[in-house]
Amino acid sequence: MRTRSAVRTPGPADGAALLSWYDRHRRALPWRVVEGRADPYRVWLSEIMLQQTTVAAVIPYFERFTRRWPTVVDLAGAEDGDVMAAWAGLGYYARARNLLACARAVAARGAFPTTREGLRALPGVGDYTSAAIAAIAFGETAVVVDGNVERVVARLLALPVPPKSARREVEASVAAMLTERAGDFAQAMMDLGATICTPRNPVCALCPIAEPCAARTEGEPTRYPVKAEKKPRKVWQGVAFVPVRSDGTILTRRRPERGLLGGMSEAWGSPWGDAPADPFAHAPFGAPWRPAGGVTHVFTHATLTLDVFVAEVGEGAATPTGGTWQAPAAAGLPTLMKKVVERALGALG
Ligand code: SF4
Repeated sequence: MRTRSAVRTPGPADGAALLSWYDRHRRALPWRVVEGRADPYRVWLSEIMLQQTTVAAVIPYFERFTRRWPTVVDLAGAEDGDVMAAWAGLGYYARARNLLACARAVAARGAFPTTREGLRALPGVGDYTSAAIAAIAFGETAVVVDGNVERVVARLLALPVPPKSARREVEASVAAMLTERAGDFAQAMMDLGATICTPRNPVCALCPIAEPCAARTEGEPTRYPVKAEKKPRKVWQGVAFVPVRSDGTILTRRRPERGLLGGMSEAWGSPWGDAPADPFAHAPFGAPWRPAGGVTHVFTHATLTLDVFVAEVGEGAATPTGGTWQAPAAAGLPTLMKKVVERALGALG
C-alpha cells in the first residue's frame, strides 16, 4: 500500500484529461447546452431543484416548470400557490419560496447578475449555487464544490478527514486542475462523481483522472470520503385529521410561511413534537373520527410519525377559519401530506 504522500498532486494535465472525457461522455441534461452559453435561468432553476435531490427526480419538474414559465420574468409573475403546487413532491419547500423571491428580484433588476458575488446576494443562492451559475452560465473561473465533487477530491487526495472539514484543501485541489472552460469543468466534475466515481462502486478503470488518485492507489477507494459522526435524528409525533365530504373533497389549510413545509397545504392536526396529550383537541370539529393508522416521514433532522384519523361528513360540514375543502389531487399536497390523505382514504375503503 502506498502512502498519501507518494502520489503526485492533481494539476492542469488532469483538468485537461477530465475535459476531454467530458466532451465524449457528458450526460445529456435538459438544462445543458452543447454549443454557446447556457441560459442563466435554466442553470439557476436546475441548481436550486438539484439541491438534495437526484437528477432523475428533477428532470420532469424542470421540464414542467420551463414549459409553464419559460423565462425568469414568467416565473416572477406566477401566483405563489401555483409555484408551491408545482414544486410539491420535490421537498425542502423553503427552496420553492426562495425560488419565487429570487425570480422576482431578478425580474425587478432586469437580468441575472453576471458575477459570483452578485449572484450570491440573491435570495436562496448560496456559495455553491452562485459559483455553479457563475461558471456554467457566465464562464467565471469559479471553484464549484458540491457533494459529488467532495467525494471525488476526497478520493483523489485520500483525505483522512471529512471533506467539509478540509474545505480549503478540497477547493485548492479543484483550483489546481481548473485552467480553462470553467463551466464545462464544473459540470465534468459533477458528471464524474455521478457516473464514474460513484459513492459505492467507483469505476476506476474508466476514470480520466485515475493516475494521481491516492484512494485508487491504496486499493480501497470507498474508504473515502471519511464520514463525519452523525447527530441522532429527533423523534416527533403528532396527529392529523382528514374529514372527507360526500362530494370527495377533504379539509386542508396552509402551513405558516416560515418553518418546515412552510406555505404548503396540510391536513388539520397538532403541532409536531411530543405526542399530544389529547389528540382530539386538535381536530377541526367533532365528527365520528376513526383511526386510520400511522404515517412516518423522515426529515433531515427529525423523524415524524403522525397518527391519522378519518371521518365521513356531510356536505354541510363546518369550515373552520383558514380551512378549504378541496379535491385531494388539486390540493398541492407535499409528499408527507399525500401519505396522510392516502392512509385516511384507504381506511374508508
Ligand atoms: S480513480 Fe477511482 S476513486 Fe479515484 S477519482 Fe477516479 S473513480 Fe474515483
